[in-house]
Amino acid sequence: MYSHPIHDFSYRNEELYCEGIKVSAIAKKVGTPVYIYSYQTLVDHFRKIKEAFRAVNPIICFAMKANSNLAILKALANEGAGFDIVSGGELKKARLVGADMKKIAFASVGKTDGEIADAIKAGILLFNVESKPELENINRIAGKMKKTVQVALRVNPDIDAPTHDKINTGSLKKKFGIDLKTARKIFLEQKIYKNLHINGVHIHIGSQITKAEPFLTAIKKALAFVDGLEKNGIKVDYFDIGGGLGIVYNDETPQTAREFADKVLPLLKGRTFRLLMEPGRFIVGNAGIFITRKLYLKDNGVKKFMIVDAGMNDLVRPSMYGAYHEIIPVKPSGIASVMCDVVGPICESGDVFAHDRRVMNVKDGDFLALLSAGAYGYVMSSNYNVRPRAAEVMVKGRQWAVVQERENFKDLIKGASIPEFISH
Ligand SMILES: *Cc1c(COP(=O)(O)O)cnc(C)c1O
Repeated sequence: MYSHPIHDFSYRNEELYCEGIKVSAIAKKVGTPVYIYSYQTLVDHFRKIKEAFRAVNPIICFAMKANSNLAILKALANEGAGFDIVSGGELKKARLVGADMKKIAFASVGKTDGEIADAIKAGILLFNVESKPELENINRIAGKMKKTVQVALRVNPDIDAPTHDKINTGSLKKKFGIDLKTARKIFLEQKIYKNLHINGVHIHIGSQITKAEPFLTAIKKALAFVDGLEKNGIKVDYFDIGGGLGIVYNDETPQTAREFADKVLPLLKGRTFRLLMEPGRFIVGNAGIFITRKLYLKDNGVKKFMIVDAGMNDLVRPSMYGAYHEIIPVKPSGIASVMCDVVGPICESGDVFAHDRRVMNVKDGDFLALLSAGAYGYVMSSNYNVRPRAAEVMVKGRQWAVVQERENFKDLIKGASIPEFISH
């Protein structure tokens, strides 16, 4: 039943292992819910992209928003990864792991003055800029700091990528990027931005896109845009194709890094710009699993519900995107399956990990693993229902460590206070 191409999570002797460690051993020691990451799967996926695109030596900026655990970031920085950041907090995390600032691209539709100044001070490679007012603001701040900063315009190629609406970003109905006409005008009149060097073109059309075609359509549109600029004597030094490569959650057959490169590289023949990429999910998605404990099975006469000790506050993807995560037992032997909804304890009908799914009915108190939980998992967790955030563990071979402690009650009330005027 467990057929994912993720070799570092596999059954041996009726036990689920992450690399050389029994998942049940970690769950017993650390408690549940807990995210477990395989170091090997993580770096393998980074290397797959690096290898596939070797001919053009791209700057691969891991999209930190997919997973910003410091151990994950450090492992990738050690592999030579740069980072695609979207906030001042992510910039600070990049610095903390010793990232090469010359491999950092700063995106986001709304950067604050403080974030912009910090990034200029840190000497990042470039800003991916998403609007004219933002451009003016970065120019103003750079001027005050007496710096010139490199800018790539995030253009909106206005294509509809076939993915979930909430992660589709390449259409003009969405808030992202600058329409091509306005972007062209900005490039042509860039002399008015005295402290900017506008020399990059950036696209990012969405996430969990499993086929090459939408990427190719967008890249071709962006290249035609670059051609138009070069005809007017404007040199483009950076071409950033964003992220969005899809992975296996259920029965998808996504392109491999190699298949993707084989289609993209021919389009880039003869180009002198440096290629940037911003994969997030592709690198970390299948490198993580999420472990929860079955509390009990509830049967209301109409339906059965398997209630687990994790909720939508821990892993929101199923509630938010209707996302599928495969659910498998940590000890698979001697159990039958049951048709049910797998649900968390949170007071929301949307707190559901699986709808009408046949899952293995492990004993009460036994562990279940939700697969492909490495991307947009822990980073999107919250304290809703006053629930502490889960722990995170990294495994490398036969070694493992808690890389993020589980929150405790003290963490949950940190900074909270009851004012004098209501405290009688
Ligand atoms: C989210 C995001 C990414 C990463 O997307 P994945 O689907 O995780 O690869 C890359 N670039 C930008 C600008 C993003 O917003």
